[in-house]
Amino acid sequence: MKDETKNSNSKKYDNNIICKCPICESNILTGEYGYYCSNKECKVSLRYHAYKYAGYDKKLSASLAKELFTSGESKNEVKCHSTKTDKDFSAILTWTYSKDEQYPNKTGLKFKNKEK
Ligand SMILES: [Zn+2]
Repeated sequence: MKDETKNSNSKKYDNNIICKCPICESNILTGEYGYYCSNKECKVSLRYHAYKYAGYDKKLSASLAKELFTSGESKNEVKCHSTKTDKDFSAILTWTYSKDEQYPNKTGLKFKNKEK
């Protein structure tokens, strides 16, 4: 039996490949909640709102996710907003992977050193 029609109709989310996984070199796909490695054994992933806690409230774009997966940080600073101080600030988003931990995807912010 063919269920090709069913498959194409249920294509709610485009599984676009955004880049290669830095850990296992499988494809990183676009999913319902974020970007994830197509290799089931591999836990590399980034949710769309992974940086919300840090003040980056926007949905993580595919190009940003690609930068994070390939170089561990965003190329440029992004606009964040601190709910603590109610102020805007700029920071570089970072991503690191520690495969032996329960939650191996670590997200954070990095600040450019101010020149003296
Ligand atoms: Zn992977």
